[in-house]
Amino acid sequence: MRIRTLLTLLILLAAVFSAAQTAPSNSSSSESPKQVPGFDVTAMDKSADPCVDFYQYSCGNWMKNNPIPADKSRWGRFNALDEYNLYTLRDILEKAEAPGNHSAIEIKVGDYYAACMDEATIEKKGIAPLQPEMERIAAIKSKQELIPQVANMHRNGIPALFAFYSMPDMHDSTLTIANLDQGGITLPDRDYYIKDDAKSVETRQKYLEHVQKMFELAGDKPEAAASEAKTVLTIETGLAKAAMDRTERRDPKKRDHMMQATEIAAAAPNFELIQYFADNGSPKFTSLNVGNPDFFKTVNEQLNAVVLDDWKTYLRWRTLDTYAPTLSKAFVDEDFQFKGNYMSGQKEIEPRWKRCVRSTDRDLGMALGELYVDKVFGPDNKARTVKMVQAIEQAMHTDIEQLTWMSDTTKQQAYTKLQAIVNNIGYPDKWRDYSTVVVARDDYAGNHTRAASFEVKRQYNKIQKPTDRKDWTMTPPTVNAYYRAPMNDINFPAGILQPPFYGNNMDDAVNYGAIGVVIGHELTHGFDDQGRKYDAEGNLKDWWTPQDGKAFEERANCTAEEYSSFVAVKDDKGEVHLNGRLTLGENTADNGGLKLAYMALMNILGNTPVKPIDGYTPQQRFFIAYGQIWCQNVTDQQARVLAITDPHSPGRWRTNGAVENSAAFQEAFGCKAGQPMVREPACRVW
Ligand SMILES: [Zn+2]
Repeated sequence: MRIRTLLTLLILLAAVFSAAQTAPSNSSSSESPKQVPGFDVTAMDKSADPCVDFYQYSCGNWMKNNPIPADKSRWGRFNALDEYNLYTLRDILEKAEAPGNHSAIEIKVGDYYAACMDEATIEKKGIAPLQPEMERIAAIKSKQELIPQVANMHRNGIPALFAFYSMPDMHDSTLTIANLDQGGITLPDRDYYIKDDAKSVETRQKYLEHVQKMFELAGDKPEAAASEAKTVLTIETGLAKAAMDRTERRDPKKRDHMMQATEIAAAAPNFELIQYFADNGSPKFTSLNVGNPDFFKTVNEQLNAVVLDDWKTYLRWRTLDTYAPTLSKAFVDEDFQFKGNYMSGQKEIEPRWKRCVRSTDRDLGMALGELYVDKVFGPDNKARTVKMVQAIEQAMHTDIEQLTWMSDTTKQQAYTKLQAIVNNIGYPDKWRDYSTVVVARDDYAGNHTRAASFEVKRQYNKIQKPTDRKDWTMTPPTVNAYYRAPMNDINFPAGILQPPFYGNNMDDAVNYGAIGVVIGHELTHGFDDQGRKYDAEGNLKDWWTPQDGKAFEERANCTAEEYSSFVAVKDDKGEVHLNGRLTLGENTADNGGLKLAYMALMNILGNTPVKPIDGYTPQQRFFIAYGQIWCQNVTDQQARVLAITDPHSPGRWRTNGAVENSAAFQEAFGCKAGQPMVREPACRVW
C-alpha cells in the first residue's frame, strides 16, 4: 500500500540490506548515546539572520559540529534519535539472547539476533543458503516454467519481474483486493536505466561491475559473469522503460485499473498470469487492480524476445541481490560497496550489531516492538499525544472554516473527512503472532527467508477479505509517522514520541513546533494533492466542487513551482533541482502542519503572556524547534539519489520552504518584505 510518511528512512531503502561487516561483533552497551535534546541553543548559528536563512540560523552550529558518521550517508537529529533507539533495542536483544528465564517472544527475537551475530557460522555456510533457489532456477527447461519460479521467489520475498501485493479496493476501501504492478528493477528508480547524463551513465557502468563481481562470488568465471551482468542490465532496462515514472504514479487515477484476472492474463499472455495467481500462495480471486496494465503489455513482448537462459540469469541475479546481506562477508562487502558506498557515499558499513538490530526489527518487528513498548512507552505518553492530536484537529477545523477560496459545500465534506480520521498512537491494539515462524540459532539466512515468507503470506491472506484497519505499516520503535489514504488514519509509532520530537519536560512551544508539526503534517496528507482525491471512507471519490478543485490546484501549483526552484545538490557532476511535483504532497503537508500546530499552540497560550526562555519567545521557540528537527548533513551521493526518489524535500528546504510562506514566522522574527524568508506571493494551500 502507498502510505504518506514523514520522511524516507534510508534504512528502508538500503542499509538493512546493504550490509557488510567490519566491526568486531562483541559490543559493550556502555557507549550508548545520550537522549537527543529537544531544543538546543548550541545547535543555532546566532550570527546568521533568521530572515535571510532560517535553516542556517536554527541548525548552523549543529551542521558544523556534527559531521556525518562514517557508517551513515545522512546524519540529522532525526537519525540521532533513530540511533538512540538502536541502542535501546540492542539492550533488549542482548538480554533476550543471553541464557535466562525468557518469554516465548524474547526467545524468538533473541535467537534471531544471535543467529545474525554469529558470523563464524554464516561464514562457514557461504552461499549454501541460496543453493535451493539457485537449483530451482537452473532446472528451468522452458519459458512456461519461468513464471512458476517467479511465483516461488515472490513467496520467499524475492522481488522479480513484476510486483504482486494486497491493497484496499480504491473504490470500496472496506474490501482488500489483489494488486498487480510494475517492478523487477534493482537500481532505485527507472531514471537510472534511461537517462543519458554523465552521472547516470557512470552509475550504469558501476552497476555492471557490481553485478559481475557478485556473479563471480557466486562461482561464475569472470568472462561469463561480465556477460551475465550485461544481460541483467539489458533486461532491467526493458522493465524500466515499460514502467510509469514516480511523479506520474502520484496520481491515483493512473494506477486505478480494476480488471478481471482473465482480462489482464489475455492482454499479456506470456506472463501466464492465471498460473502465477494459482502458484503464488494467494487466496483465489477473479478480479484485481492492475497498477500499470501497459507495463504487462510491453514486457509481454520482452518475455518472448529474450532467450530463456537470459531470463534465468536475471532470476539468479534477483536472488543474489536480495539475499547478499544475509550471506558471508564477501557478499556483504560487495553489496555495501555498491549500494552503501558508491550509491550513497557512506564510508563504512554499520557495525554488525546495528545491522542485526535493524534486521530483527524488519523481520520480527512486532515482537521486538512489544518488548520495546514495555520498556520505554508508558500509558501517559499515549494520553498526552492524544490530547495534542485533538488540539491540532480542532485547529484544522478552524483553518478550514477560515478558508476564503473554498465553498461551504466543499467545506462540509472536508469537515466530514477530518472528523473521520482515525488516530493510532504508539503501537497496535493487538500484537502480531509469529509463532509459526521457525527461528534457528544457527541459520540467519534461513530465518530471514522464513520471516519474509511469513510476511508475504500474511499480506496475501488479506486478499478478498474485509480491510484490516488495525494492522500497522511501521514497527513501534520506528522514528517516523504516516497517513494512509484508504484507511484515512494517522499513525505515530512510539519511537518518534520522544525528544527531539516530544518530551514531558519540554515546553509547549517546543512540543508543538516538533511533534505538533508532525501531527499536523500527517493530518494535512489527508488533504494534499493525493489525499484530497479520497473521501472520508478512504475511497477514490471526488468530493470537491469543480471550482474549489480548480482553486486547490492553483494553490498547489504555487507550492510545486516554489520547491522546484530549490537546489538539492550541486557538485562536480552538476546541479540537481528538487522535483516540486514529486515532493508536492510532502511540502503541502509541511506547510499545513506548521500552520496547524502554530494555531493549536496559540489556542493553548491564549492571552497569558509567557516569559521568553533562553531569550526566545514561545513563538520563536516554536519555529526554531521546527527547524531543528530537520538539522542534517547529507553526502552529495545520497542527496542525488533522494532528489530522484524521495517525495520528501531535504531538511534545508523543509525548513526554509515552509517558513518563507508563514506570516506568523515573519511576525515572530520581525522579517520585512524583500528579505529571503518572506516569499511574495506566499504559497498557501491549507
Ligand atoms: Zn509526509
